[in-house]
Amino acid sequence: MNSAAVQASSTNYDEFTNKLGEYLANNDQLVAVVILEASNTPRIDARFGRSHRDAQLAALSDAIDASIRDTDFAIQIGDYTFAVIVPGLKNKGHATLAGRKLQRVVQPEMPEPKRDLGLVECRLGIALAPLHADEALALVKRAQLALELAKDSNRDLVIYDDDTVGQVSVAWELRDDLAEAIRESELEVFYQPKLNVQTDEVYGAEALVRWFSVKRGPVAPDVFIPVAENSELIQPLTRYMLNTAMRSMMMWQRDGHDIGVAVNLPSSMLLDGGIVTMLEALLTIWDLDKGRLTLELTESALMRDIDTSIDTMKRLKDLGARLSIDDFGTGYSSFSYFKNIPADELKIDKFFVNNMCNDMADQHIVETIIGLAHRFKMKVVAEGIEDAATLELLKKLGCDIAQGYHIAKPLSEKDYDSWLDARRYAQPLL
Ligand code: C2E
Ligand code: MG
Ligand code: MG
Repeated sequence: MNSAAVQASSTNYDEFTNKLGEYLANNDQLVAVVILEASNTPRIDARFGRSHRDAQLAALSDAIDASIRDTDFAIQIGDYTFAVIVPGLKNKGHATLAGRKLQRVVQPEMPEPKRDLGLVECRLGIALAPLHADEALALVKRAQLALELAKDSNRDLVIYDDDTVGQVSVAWELRDDLAEAIRESELEVFYQPKLNVQTDEVYGAEALVRWFSVKRGPVAPDVFIPVAENSELIQPLTRYMLNTAMRSMMMWQRDGHDIGVAVNLPSSMLLDGGIVTMLEALLTIWDLDKGRLTLELTESALMRDIDTSIDTMKRLKDLGARLSIDDFGTGYSSFSYFKNIPADELKIDKFFVNNMCNDMADQHIVETIIGLAHRFKMKVVAEGIEDAATLELLKKLGCDIAQGYHIAKPLSEKDYDSWLDARRYAQPLL
């Protein structure tokens, strides 16, 4: 495959569709079109510089070439986008297998030198002839639509089906509505209290985005955060969250509450380093006790590219932020890098906490994470506490901080203020 011709991508596109036409004319089995897009392109540019791009792409092409069969055909059709023809398939399952094989070419577990590609993630869109179209241009279009859906729904592989067009339009509409919601200040920040388990004092709060859409009603963050992450909208959304949370924190400090706030960081911004510049700028506006600002990064986000993540984390720490690893226990971390992560806090996923009173295995996991965190001089937060028994047990196990519906649900800023005032006179929860 000749990847030097990024500029000539339209020529390559034509070559691909012509070739596909030949395959379609001469095949009586299924033919798959796989469109592969490296999904972490900003990070690649940030880390290696654009000049590095051609060499990387050549290496990626070679890796793809080496992985396909003699009867397949692959070509680069755009910046970071490759198209592959896979003939002779018996069913959709085989198409998925062919796609997975291509994905492994760019996986982080790959040994050197492929890891050097810096291309650790890709998404695939697949369409099959004659199932989805029997004409080359239409088939490629369907594979591209499947890729769009993969991006919007945060999946790594989508095979086209009758629903794809509808789902892509739904995601586009959601993105447009979200863009407007950001512009029109329709997003809100809710605060979920965190309690110091050992002293029963309020420790702070986690800032959680809420979208009460006039048009759609409430939309869950799990639905719109992936859409934001796959577009440029994640930047203004994160800036809004940080800015609002920092402003609230100033207010609480002014009112004599010695508490902090934690903001969730999206994985995409962690990988391209954009978050460092953003935080630096916001810190010049808000003059706060920086040690009280915590940034939550999910374990699986860190695992996407651990070296770059650690690098960004160090820069965030240099700015004075505390760092917390969110949803700990679900992201398949390994001890080989754990010791190098500059985190101040581990946040145990609610999956383990929810049922720990009834399930000894979950209890052992929670106990082990607490021990691990303390060994590394980190604090431990348990999230998802829904009853008094769990809170009691966590206290006994030496957990530092607790968060969950039993303490309080996420509250609007006004309700959180009232909650803070009420807590001064309330009975201890423990
Ligand atoms: P997360 O950071 O792990 O946030 C905790 C989630 O658990 C929140 O859901 C919270 O409402 C929920 N939760 C808290 N206590 C309990 C409990 O006792 N039981 C149960 N079952 N759930 C509890 P939410 O607000 O729906 O957020 C879901 C996820 O969306 C968050 O998970 C976070 O990954 C993401 N998210 C939320 N706000 C933001 C944001 O501003 N920026 C980014 N990048 N992600 C956000
Ligand atoms: Mg969180
Ligand atoms: Mg969490």
